Amino acid sequence: MDKGLLIVLSGPSGVGKGTVCSVLRQKVPELVYSVSATTRKPRQGEIDGINYFFKTKEQFKEMIAKDALLEHAEYVGNCYGTPRDFVESTLASGKDVILEIEVQGALKVKEKFPEGVFVFLLPPSLDELKSRITGRGTETQDTINNRMTVAVEEMNLIRHYDYAVVNDEIDAACHRIQSIITAEHCRRDRY
Ligand code: 5GP
Repeated sequence: MDKGLLIVLSGPSGVGKGTVCSVLRQKVPELVYSVSATTRKPRQGEIDGINYFFKTKEQFKEMIAKDALLEHAEYVGNCYGTPRDFVESTLASGKDVILEIEVQGALKVKEKFPEGVFVFLLPPSLDELKSRITGRGTETQDTINNRMTVAVEEMNLIRHYDYAVVNDEIDAACHRIQSIITAEHCRRDRY
C-alpha cells in the first residue's frame, strides 16, 4: 500500500491557517488532521484533544524526552509540537495527514520528511495581516507586535516551500490547496 501524503500548511500567525485548514477538512473529509500539543492556555471555546492537547511545561518536556514529538518549536513564549506516532502510523496506513504549524517547525519536518508537500499560506498584504491579528481580539498589543515581527521573519523563509498560496479568500485558497493535493497524488514518481 502507498503511504499517505504529508501536507504541511504553514505561514505567519494570523494569515488564516486555522480557518483554511478547518474549511479544507470539511471539503476533504478523508484528510486526517494532526492535533498538536501546546503549553499555551486554551482560548475560549477550545477543547482539549480537538484543538490542541493542552500540556503543562513539565508534560511537554517529558514528551520531548520520550522523543514523542516529530518537531517542536517555541512561538511567542509557548511551546508547540506535533505528536510523532499519530502522524507516522496514519501515513503508513495510506491516509493523507495535514499539519498546521508555524515556520520553524515546518522546516524541521522537512528535514525528516523531505517528500512532504510544503505549502506556505500568504496574506494578501502585511497591512491585511496586521488587521487580521488585531481583529481576532484575543491578543494584547505586545503580543500583536511580537507576532508581526515574527511574521516578517517567517515570510523570508518561503523559499524552502514547494507551494505559495495567497489567502485572499478562504474558499479560493482551499480550492488551490485541493488542486495541489490532487496534483501531488498524480505525480509520476509515485508510480
Ligand atoms: P496559536 O497559539 O495561534 O494557536 O498558534 C500559534 C502558532 O503555532 C501558529 O502559527 C500555529 O500554526 C503554530 N502551531 C500550532 N501547532 C503547532 C505545532 O505542532 N508545531 C509547531 N511548530 N507550530 C504549531
